[in-house]
Amino acid sequence: MIPLLQVTDLETTFYNPKKDLVAVRNISFSVNPGETLCIVGESGCGKSLTSLSIMGLLPTKGGVTNGSILLKDEELTTKSEEQMERIRGNKVSMIFQEPMTALNPVLTIGFQLRESLMIHRKMSKKQATEKSIEMLVKVGIPSPEERLKQYPHELSGGMRQRVMIAIALACEPDLLIADEPTTALDVTIQSQILDLIDELQQEMGMGVVFVTHDMGVVAEIADRVMVMYAGGVVETADVDAIFDNPQHPYTKGLLHSVPDVDNPSQELKIIEGSMPSLDDEITGCRFHPRCPFAMEKCKQQEPPTFNLNSTHESKCWLQEVTESERNTVTRG
Ligand code: SF4
Ligand code: MG
Repeated sequence: MIPLLQVTDLETTFYNPKKDLVAVRNISFSVNPGETLCIVGESGCGKSLTSLSIMGLLPTKGGVTNGSILLKDEELTTKSEEQMERIRGNKVSMIFQEPMTALNPVLTIGFQLRESLMIHRKMSKKQATEKSIEMLVKVGIPSPEERLKQYPHELSGGMRQRVMIAIALACEPDLLIADEPTTALDVTIQSQILDLIDELQQEMGMGVVFVTHDMGVVAEIADRVMVMYAGGVVETADVDAIFDNPQHPYTKGLLHSVPDVDNPSQELKIIEGSMPSLDDEITGCRFHPRCPFAMEKCKQQEPPTFNLNSTHESKCWLQEVTESERNTVTRG
């Protein structure tokens, strides 16, 4: 299958008068049509910057400094802002944690929904209004005709989130990027929104990149998982392998910080220490100052990415040990 999205060696940098700071370090991944890839990691690991890089929405003091982002057969990194405007909201859409940043407070819901349909789908005002109502129904908003006349502040947080999703999906994008869209919502609304994204995804066959720090959400929606730490990818695998057979010590740490439903009295273990900041110089493995398994080598040499099989990779020296043990055993 030709991937819908193919990101190769992506590097994103913040320009700084003293020294440029690399925030996303040569990461590669792909998303197939109909697939959900979850990008997970603590805040500041580069997961949001990865999605903003794809959208061409990086702050002006930052930019993509290396690598390629292919959406189907279109290279996004070389597009002008004008060209990206035609792609955003059309072929690729994004939803955020805080819908107020995506919605314009001085324009009605109806105007905002119609606008992208009229621009990208060349619909008449009448057609766009009909489609807008259809989208509001789809995202579970009651009395949609009334809602079209309202302004964002007149809606509850959950309703605004649904409106943002309706706008993002109105043009039936090939790819949806969702950056912690449910974090600020209560659990019931969160699960309704996740179901909704899943439903619409199955109906439209779009690929989804879902950014989150919540392993519970990952378990619910991911097909594949990419774990990021300090700007780089440390482990990628199918969702079952991430939960049943995690390899990277950081992934294991993230999983231990999830409360165990079968053993609620178990104390939550969190990974000690904190993530390095962008200007910290760290040699070797960037996780070594926090890693309970760190070896001497980890402090000197950055580990390569080891392939456990065709769908599972881990960037950790322990994998080399496991591999050599495996070889010793086979050699008998
Ligand atoms: Fe820990 Fe070493 Fe693996 Fe890094 S390479 S995660 S320090 S064991
Ligand atoms: Mg974020």
